[in-house]
Amino acid sequence: MSSTDLRADAEAMREDLVALRRELHQIPEIGLDLPRTQETVLAALEGLPLEISTGEKLSSITAVLRGGAQPAEGEGPVVLLRGDMDALPVAERSEESYRSRHENAMHACGHDLHTAGLVGAARLLSAHRAELPGDVVFMFQPGEEGWNGASLMIDDGVLTAAGRPADAAYGLHVLSAILPSGIFACRPGPLMSASDALYVRVVGAGGHGSMPYTTLDPVPAACEMVTALQTMITRRFNIFDPVVITVGVLKAGTKRNVIPDDASFEATVRTYSSENQERVRQLATEVCEGIAAAHGMRVEVRYDAEYPVTVNNAEEAAFVGETARSLFGEERYLESPNPLSPSEDFSFVLQNVPGAYLFLGACSAENTFTAPSNHSPLAFFDDRVIPDGAAMLAELAVRRLARTDGRA
Ligand SMILES: [Zn+2]
Repeated sequence: MSSTDLRADAEAMREDLVALRRELHQIPEIGLDLPRTQETVLAALEGLPLEISTGEKLSSITAVLRGGAQPAEGEGPVVLLRGDMDALPVAERSEESYRSRHENAMHACGHDLHTAGLVGAARLLSAHRAELPGDVVFMFQPGEEGWNGASLMIDDGVLTAAGRPADAAYGLHVLSAILPSGIFACRPGPLMSASDALYVRVVGAGGHGSMPYTTLDPVPAACEMVTALQTMITRRFNIFDPVVITVGVLKAGTKRNVIPDDASFEATVRTYSSENQERVRQLATEVCEGIAAAHGMRVEVRYDAEYPVTVNNAEEAAFVGETARSLFGEERYLESPNPLSPSEDFSFVLQNVPGAYLFLGACSAENTFTAPSNHSPLAFFDDRVIPDGAAMLAELAVRRLARTDGRA
């Protein structure tokens, strides 16, 4: 088969794939349990020559396509393609006829496009099964938005679903802002940040607001910690390896004339290297403990690692660029100059399998920088890009399987 075949075949599926995406868009489900989504995807895969299994702890779908042109059964390479399927607790503010029918749930991150795209790739590759020199694993994943569905699927064996370890893994994410519709983007090395959580509770001793000298007021101490963390970033971290700490929760007190016993705050921490991730854990703890001690108070600090940095394998990222340029033309590919700041649990797949994650622009607004971004209740994803997303994933699998020197 040639690349033009795959693009043409994907184009012929346009109506079907867009309809599937819009069906999913109306029934957004959150977290690890996505029963209606799973049912819809299983129906969409019906009739394809796939070995399908579903998760027990989460409504995942793993589908294996056995290539018909392997030296011997189970001898060829294995490529894994991933699409996440979960939605967000966002109340959609859209006038589209296919807007969410579930209250306070919306496909605001475009995972409905990923799901439809991966179904498209499964159909495209199934049609060419006989010519494939290896196997393809399709990973339909729930719970990307903070539930770590990827790790749960890894625990369930998705990386060895074909009976041997995957040799390469790819996935893509659509963007409702920044990247114009139809533009593919990728880069070697760090692509998305690590995401961690910092929880701090300052323990003082409450009392009358007019007599602070008889208390240990935790409020100014907590405020000092919040600002000291920002200073810590600028003074103690290399500016070429960025760190973001955002305090999104700050809580203390019940009444203006009462000094509370404690004050607490929570922060999200984003880093782009495992060194910095570890260093923030250590230094943020020291800063908070030091300030508490200076004021004669106690502090409880908890630091939870969530998602690691999403790191693209350099060779695989270059291969993604080559494939996008040859399939869609030079003007449809952008080598991202810098990583993006959100985080991804596909990072756990890439810790185990060489591969790459890429972006696909789905922003049809004239000004891509002011368009509502992913996670906004107004986010609009141009679903005309789905066939190209499907063709890209299928093409990556076809070419990667054919790369004879590719075996680890
Ligand atoms: Zn997302």
